[in-house]
Amino acid sequence: MLTRRPRGTNDVLPVEAARWRALESHIHRLAAAYGYGEVRTPLFEHAELFQRSVGQDTDIVEKEMYVFVDRAGRRLALRPEGTAAVVRAFLEGGLSAAPLPVKLYYAGSAMFRYDRPEAGRYRQFHQAGVEVLGSSDPAADAEVVALAVDLLTGLGLGGLEVRLNSIGCPRCRPAYRERLREHYRPYLDRLCEDCRRRFDGNPLRLLDCKVDRGPAEAAPPLTAFLCDECTRHFRALQGYLNALGLTYTLDPRLVRGLDYYTRTVFEVTHPRLGAQSSLCGGGRYDGLVEALGGPPTPAVGFALGMERLLLALEAEGLAPAAPAGPDVFVGAAGDGVRAEAMALAARLRRSGLTVETDLSGRSLRAQLKHAARLGAPFAVLVGEEELARGAAVLRHLERGEQEEVPLDRLAERLAGLVAGRRAREGSAG
Ligand code: AMP
Repeated sequence: MLTRRPRGTNDVLPVEAARWRALESHIHRLAAAYGYGEVRTPLFEHAELFQRSVGQDTDIVEKEMYVFVDRAGRRLALRPEGTAAVVRAFLEGGLSAAPLPVKLYYAGSAMFRYDRPEAGRYRQFHQAGVEVLGSSDPAADAEVVALAVDLLTGLGLGGLEVRLNSIGCPRCRPAYRERLREHYRPYLDRLCEDCRRRFDGNPLRLLDCKVDRGPAEAAPPLTAFLCDECTRHFRALQGYLNALGLTYTLDPRLVRGLDYYTRTVFEVTHPRLGAQSSLCGGGRYDGLVEALGGPPTPAVGFALGMERLLLALEAEGLAPAAPAGPDVFVGAAGDGVRAEAMALAARLRRSGLTVETDLSGRSLRAQLKHAARLGAPFAVLVGEEELARGAAVLRHLERGEQEEVPLDRLAERLAGLVAGRRAREGSAG
């Protein structure tokens, strides 16, 4: 029990952690290039925030939220998604008074959903996402879709499918909802339990049923019910995407699991991810800011699953390489000089080198074996005699040669050797 992590959670050990860092820096770089500012919100919020924004009849709120009561009796929830919290922060931080649109992003934030764990689906997972608050213009939707695609293709991922739909606005959606109920009524008996609930509360979600695709395939397309404004918006978005040279598929049955979406919805999938093929999902949420007590503020964004992105990169052989070993190992030839070796290692680190040293009191031979195991190309051996001359032995571990170098020239000599080696590796790779 004590050595088992909770179901649906993952540890990120050092080799993996380096991959996470590489991904996160890619996202920070790209977000900066597009002019988005980073936002970090708390891991937990008032549960009501998600009930109001994600929606009472959604799987997330009904079945998947980690809700708890704190010692003062407040009902709190571990965040199941990022948008509601970003909107809350946008309002609370006074950003709604800033020049609009305000463009925000988060990279690698932990989210929590009590879902059935399987490959690509966890109870604690991480998302990166962007939100553009304060623009109803289809150019904002286009930028958000383009950013998602840029993010993924910039990592070398191919075979991506972008699916796009418009789910209308509060003006045109009610008629479609009614039409959808009419369409589903004859199927009521054969619908799954979830769908029978959705029939009354959230009929759009019927289109998303994974149990029986038959009724959804035969359903009338939503786009036929869009009002003129929604149609114009959707066409203009496609015009921008075409101009950007982005390939996408129109999917009139694409809906999303969160209630706050209006007009644009999109999803990016990767073929190698199996059942959980969705890498990234997003869309427009024009009513959310106002529903949470802010001024009318149309907005659009997406969220991307970091674990799934790493799985897709691994499946394509694109996972960032494991971190390199140290540049140099500083060994002590005898117990009497261990403190001097440690001080020298500290000096070399301050000069910018990556330095390992012995923390186990090993013999010099065992230290050198350890240095080779760590992959250090060079070792500095600190011995009493050399120290008395103000020098140390520098051993080229790969070639088996060694030389004596004055201590005050050691950092410079090593830096030269390390740089030369990197240049050779760079030109070979
Ligand atoms: P959503 O917030 O449901 O729109 O999901 C956006 C993205 O987050 C999905 O496309 C997935 O990549 C990722 N995601 C959602 N739920 C999970 C989960 N339980 N485990 C891992 N990734 C998830």
